[in-house]
Amino acid sequence: MSNPWDWADELGPEKIVYVHDAAADLRGVVAIDNTAAGPSIGGVRMAPDVSAEEAFRLARAMTFKNAAAGLRHGGGKAVLFGDPHWSDERKEPIVRAFAQAIRDLNAYIPGPDMGTNERCMAWIQDEIGRSVGLPTEIGGIPLDEIGATGLGLAASADVAARYCDLELAGARVAIQGYGNVGRHAARLLAGRGAAIVAVSDSGGAAIDPKGLSVSALDELKAAGRSVAEHPAGRLGSGDEILDVESEIWIPAARPDVVTRDNVGRLSTRLVLQGANIPFTKEAEQILHERGVLVVPDFIANAGGVICAAVEYQGGSEQQALETIESKITDNVEAVLARAQSSGRPPREAALSIAEERVRRATALRRWHR
Ligand code: NAD
Repeated sequence: MSNPWDWADELGPEKIVYVHDAAADLRGVVAIDNTAAGPSIGGVRMAPDVSAEEAFRLARAMTFKNAAAGLRHGGGKAVLFGDPHWSDERKEPIVRAFAQAIRDLNAYIPGPDMGTNERCMAWIQDEIGRSVGLPTEIGGIPLDEIGATGLGLAASADVAARYCDLELAGARVAIQGYGNVGRHAARLLAGRGAAIVAVSDSGGAAIDPKGLSVSALDELKAAGRSVAEHPAGRLGSGDEILDVESEIWIPAARPDVVTRDNVGRLSTRLVLQGANIPFTKEAEQILHERGVLVVPDFIANAGGVICAAVEYQGGSEQQALETIESKITDNVEAVLARAQSSGRPPREAALSIAEERVRRATALRRWHR
């Protein structure tokens, strides 16, 4: 087992807490990384392997993600031993026992993550009255229904377009993944006059250089069908979306879809990352050298975490939408201005801004030297 003092630094972690309740089959770790800006928010992940080091690394990523989003929250994360595909009946005693175990850890606000959902958050709320990502019946804001992340992508497009001399009206947009993130991004960009020339899902792709009808695509998805069943669609791997010429390319499906091996196929000017880590580091570097602007995931797709912070404050859906739009607009502007002046890729500029925010907040704490 690795030694926590090997990875601890002046920013954190503040606490690593093991939680164990044999009767409920609970085994987990909570990492609270840094709370200088406010109580930590981060997901509860259920996974077959659990380690303090992984919990810490995920918590550190949340410290920077929350700081980059401009939230008054630090970063935390919990990892519970279990199979993410277990039934609700199997998960409920574990999640309720977990809630009791963190009752006094007030500096950690749990949210949903891989293997947990809004129902799990409702159990935690029921036990200790502290969680986010709740069902609407008990005060949750339905972020996928209102399109929290798609709205952040559209706000990113408004700012980024100026940095690459692009008119959104008439711009050709290709979207990989037509789920909660992709479909709202399509709707909002089409509303700005962009042409959605290609979309894909796990069933295939629909490609039409003249532009696809977003309402026709939405009808297909509402009926549980694939976008590939659109009249302009093609059943298949959907991989050909990489070759579609566009001005804006949006990954909104899975991690690591663009790598050093296939990045040469992308022909676009602006990438807005909806999915988490959709491109490898090398692929982003190659695009930077080619002059393609890439707005990184944790800046462009922060709509969900901003929505969670508004929910925690008891805010309304309308307040969540307004906060997402204004924060993401400001953050993308700050990141792209720094990237432009420093000549560095936007991801590096974003990380440096986030780290500065955390260091400034940490410097205000007692005992800080
Ligand atoms: P979702 O399950 O609603 O949609 C995912 C879509 O991707 C589906 O249409 C699916 O068919 C498609 N897909 C799967 N494999 C594909 C492939 N190989 N090629 C093309 N399409 C494929 O998920 P979502 O909520 O829209 O999230 C999409 C991504 O964005 C995920 O990586 C998620 O972690 C990330 N993300 C989501 C949010 C959010 O608010 N929902 C926030 C931040 C990041």
